[in-house]
Amino acid sequence: MTARGPAVERTRSEHVLVTGGAGFVGSHVVDLLLERDGLRVTVLDRLTYAGNVDNLSQHRGNPRFDFVKGDVVDADAVARLVARSTSVIHAAAESFVDRSIADSSEFVRTNVLGSQVVLEACRRAEKPLLVVSTDEVYGSVRRGAFTEDDPLLPNSPYAATKAGADLLCRAYRVTHAMPVTLVRGTNAFGPRQHPEKAIPTFARAALAGLEVPVYGDGSNRREWLHVLDFARAVLTVQDAGRAGETYNIGGGHEITNLELAREVCRMAGASPSLIEFVPDRPGHDFRYALDWTRLAELGWKPEIRFADGLARTVDWYRENAARLEGGRR
Ligand code: NAD
Repeated sequence: MTARGPAVERTRSEHVLVTGGAGFVGSHVVDLLLERDGLRVTVLDRLTYAGNVDNLSQHRGNPRFDFVKGDVVDADAVARLVARSTSVIHAAAESFVDRSIADSSEFVRTNVLGSQVVLEACRRAEKPLLVVSTDEVYGSVRRGAFTEDDPLLPNSPYAATKAGADLLCRAYRVTHAMPVTLVRGTNAFGPRQHPEKAIPTFARAALAGLEVPVYGDGSNRREWLHVLDFARAVLTVQDAGRAGETYNIGGGHEITNLELAREVCRMAGASPSLIEFVPDRPGHDFRYALDWTRLAELGWKPEIRFADGLARTVDWYRENAARLEGGRR
C-alpha cells in the first residue's frame, strides 16, 4: 500500500486530454488511463463517421471522465481544453488510406491542420504532448525494418498528411525546444475497429458467408499488433519515454494479406473459397516493418499472441454484427 502511495498521488493530479478518444486506438488508450486511480480523462472527438460514442459507453457516469464533441481544428476549443489538462495524447485523425485516395481534403484538414492546432495550444500552455503517428510515414520496405531515424517517404495521401504532422512535431522540437513525443505504430487490430478496415471487412464478410475481398494478389505484407498492446505501448512511452523522442511501436505479427484472409475465414468457420481478389489499391505499399528496440528498452513487449487476438476479434465481430449492421451511432 505504501509503495503505491506516490504513484496514486501522481495519477490523482493528472488530467489527460485525449483527442480522437471515440476512435479505435483512442478509446483503448482511454480505457487504460481510466484504470489508474484518480486520473481524469477528457475526450475531444468530432464524431466523424469513424468515431463512435459507444466505444466509450463503459465510462458513462464516471466522474473522472468527460466527453466533448468538437473539432481539433477549432483552436479556441482546443486551447480551452489543453489549459485544464496536465498532458495531451493526440490521436484524432482521418485514418483510412482508401478514403484519402478518393479525396484527401479532410486528411489535410484534420491530420495536418488539426495537429498544428494541438501543437500550438500545447506550446502556448507548456503542456506535454504525445502524438500518435504511423509506420506508413516511412513508406514501403522490402527487407529489414525502419528505425526512428529513417527518412519519411510516404506514398498515400493519408501517409503524407501523417508525415506532415510528424514534420511539424520535428519543427516544434527544433524551433521552440518543445518536447513533443511521437509514437509511430504498426497496424493495429482488435475490437471496435471501424468496419471499413481490413480485418473487420474480412471478418464480417466471412461470418456472413459473403465474398472476402483481397487487394491485388494478396502478397502485400503487414505487421499486426493487438490494439491493447498498442495502447499499452502508447502509455509506456507516455510514462517512461524520453520527452521529445520518437518511438516505433512494432512487435506485431507479419503476414501476407492473403494468409490473413485465410486465417480469418478459418476462425469464422467459413470456406477460404469466399476469398476474391479485387483490383489493387493504387500506390499500395508492399510491406511495412519497424525496428522497436527503443520501445523495448522502456520495458514494453507485446503480450497478446496474434492467433489468440485474432480469434477474439473475429468473435467480437460475430457478437457485434447486428449493432454494426444497424449503424454506428
Ligand atoms: P479511427 O478512425 O478509428 O479514429 C479516429 C478518431 O478521430 C475518430 O473517433 C474520429 O471521430 C476522430 N476525429 C477525426 N477527425 C477529427 C477532428 N477533426 N476533430 C476531432 N476528432 C476527429 O482511427 P484509429 O485507427 O483509432 O487511429 C488513431 C490514430 O492512430 C491515428 O493518428 C492513426 O494515424 C494512428 N494509427 C492507427 C493505426 C491503426 O492500425 N489503427 C496504426 C498506426 C497509427
